Amino acid sequence: MTFSIHGLPVARGIAIGRAVVVGSTRMDVAHYFIEPAQIVAELERVRDARDAAVHEIHRMQESIEQMGPKDTPHELRALLDVHLMLLQDEELEEGVKYWIKERLYNAEWALVSQLEVVSRQFDEMEDDYLRERKADLEQITDKILQAMRGMPSQLAPPSEAGASKGEQQALMLEDKTDVPLILVAHDLSPSDMLHFKQSVFAGFVTDVGGKTSHTAIVARSLDIPAVVGARLSSHLVKPDDWVIIDGDSGVIVVDPSPIILAEYTYRQRQVVLARGRLQRLLHTPAVTRDGEKVELLANIEMPDDAANAVASGAVGVGLFRSEFLFMGRQGDLPNEDEQYLAYRSAVEGMQGLPVTIRTVDVGADKPLDDALRDTAHLNPALGLRAIRWCLSDPAMFLTQLRAMLRAAAHGQVRILIPMLAHASEIRQTLSMVDHARAQLDNRGVPYGDVQIGAMIEIPAAALMVKLFLKHFDFLSVGTNDLIQYTLAIDRADETVAHLYDPLHPAVLGLLANTIEQGRLAGKPVSVCGEMAGDPQLTRLLLGLGLRSFSMQPAQILSVKQEVLRADASKLTPWAQEVIADEHPASLLIES
Ligand code: PEP
Ligand code: MG
Repeated sequence: MTFSIHGLPVARGIAIGRAVVVGSTRMDVAHYFIEPAQIVAELERVRDARDAAVHEIHRMQESIEQMGPKDTPHELRALLDVHLMLLQDEELEEGVKYWIKERLYNAEWALVSQLEVVSRQFDEMEDDYLRERKADLEQITDKILQAMRGMPSQLAPPSEAGASKGEQQALMLEDKTDVPLILVAHDLSPSDMLHFKQSVFAGFVTDVGGKTSHTAIVARSLDIPAVVGARLSSHLVKPDDWVIIDGDSGVIVVDPSPIILAEYTYRQRQVVLARGRLQRLLHTPAVTRDGEKVELLANIEMPDDAANAVASGAVGVGLFRSEFLFMGRQGDLPNEDEQYLAYRSAVEGMQGLPVTIRTVDVGADKPLDDALRDTAHLNPALGLRAIRWCLSDPAMFLTQLRAMLRAAAHGQVRILIPMLAHASEIRQTLSMVDHARAQLDNRGVPYGDVQIGAMIEIPAAALMVKLFLKHFDFLSVGTNDLIQYTLAIDRADETVAHLYDPLHPAVLGLLANTIEQGRLAGKPVSVCGEMAGDPQLTRLLLGLGLRSFSMQPAQILSVKQEVLRADASKLTPWAQEVIADEHPASLLIES
């Protein structure tokens, strides 16, 4: 039966495919496709693992027998009987066979897919006792997975051993079945998302998350349709269901009827055609009709993204979120040489264009490791994150600064500091940069000149922007956090997403003042938050005097199209009217 789920649109376009539903606890299972010739071997792996689990239960039953009924509770015996029954359950066995034979899933993936299917049947049972057997089902699945770990597949990709949670997902190879796959999960961390860059998923849906959560930002950088905050989606969508994701409206259609499918297939084709048309603007300089030059820069997460930034027409990198080099490493932070090589690779990848590298900004919804997610503090977004964390660990911070300075010997590098709010933080940060230079001098290591900039993303910084303009070469407005902190709305919380408003007059006031003060001081001001990549806001930002926009590469041509259509001189008085209005959004729609 066709039904739809509504969430928050994150990445544009339409995806149509079959659902791969991943329970949050099952993310660490390898997912990859096998060759048809490998089906038999893979079926044997599951059978052997299941037999090993059965054998283990038999052994436990025997030792219980030896102890005698007095010493062993009746419940334990009953539990073992239930586990044995579930292990030998035909539906589990047949289901696993189906996923391996028909879908070419590897054994582990097949097992967890079938677990998802059977779990749902348990959820629907009326009898409490039977419903609670779901926990047993999960336990026996773990037993089989454990046994499988002892009998590694000959087929698994070579890097699988020791791969981290996200990496295991990334081991997804080519889709041998030619059916697009849509990943539906309760939650995905930003680093999980990053690993999907190499995967074959045609779209993503998550139950939780806000539009500018870092998971959403990375999804946008993949440039495939995604919807977050779709509440119960991972519960309502069943494995293998046909699913349509409309990344423009945030609608997910499950089990679409032929008419709906035809409509979305048509719209999907229109999206492809529209994108093709935009490609014609690739080499057109971004200049308004009245001759104002506009700088369109790329936001990147990894050095390899530089190639895509250049291919998308970016004239530089306005934000390299360096924290992605630090995440998912079980606390083993990259050393100076590793960072230097990564930054150098981004600089060289940009072929002489400027690269703005932001110092590490971990914390809140970007933990170093998913297992290290901060649950101890009530408000991690207000806690030890970004520059605060860096200043609390000078050795780590100096290591990063030295690596960045060394990379500057190979091209234009700008260093950007996140989350500053205090004059003392500005002073400490700048003296750390001097210290890093002195350390390199002492070691006789070459390094290059850099400009140092500050992110304006805390309202306090926006309110005392003159101080920042005095100390820094340039500013970049992080509207994602500026909105979050001005409006006291958690950017990753879907339950308050409707209040997360880029067009709130208070936000626009802070933004307009920052741009204007930068102009008066003669220092460049850029916007690198998601507002910069929203073509619906381009005219407003131009009207406020912004001439430097940094965004996901996929957005560049849409924003360029708006720039080419705009007459900046006419937009200036209009933008002042918009920001002075009680409801700026209504003026934006009318215009
Ligand atoms: C921002 O806050 O707008 C920003 C660009 O930084 P991040 O999204 O990484 O917090
Ligand atoms: Mg930020």
